[in-house]
Amino acid sequence: MQDAIRIKPHHFVDILTSVGAGQTTFQPHPYGHALHAVAAGILGRPDALLEIELGADDICRPCVHNIAGLCDDTIDTSFRPEAPSSKRQWNLLIDRRWCERLGVGQGDRLTAQEFCLRLRDRAGDITEIYREIPADRTAERADKLKKGVDRFLREP
Ligand code: SF4
Repeated sequence: MQDAIRIKPHHFVDILTSVGAGQTTFQPHPYGHALHAVAAGILGRPDALLEIELGADDICRPCVHNIAGLCDDTIDTSFRPEAPSSKRQWNLLIDRRWCERLGVGQGDRLTAQEFCLRLRDRAGDITEIYREIPADRTAERADKLKKGVDRFLREP
């Protein structure tokens, strides 16, 4: 059986949002995380099997901020003062909201195409998912995400 790519929902959402913004390739990041490699393993592969992971996923695995499975990084709270400064807590908050919205949970397996179809059919108004972020920023994100999902489903 095909090995699944363990991924936080918001990480795949971020990849698709970047695609919707016109990005076609992903470069290695100074943190050493595997976003570029995971994106390369999903884009162009609608049948890529994903496994929902709310903790450290395959992107986090080689990251310098992954300390024994826990992210020790912080986020910029200057434009989202209600958000927790811990990136781990922030990610968990956002990922739990995405899971609820899309009807998935820890350990669920679905293909990249199935995930995208859920995004297309169930994402709706995402300002509630990113409610700590000013709505105008989220509107821009929503637009790019929609374009990224459409592009993946059209020409994965
Ligand atoms: S969530 Fe934390 S550990 Fe994971 S890739 Fe981002 S900074 Fe690294």
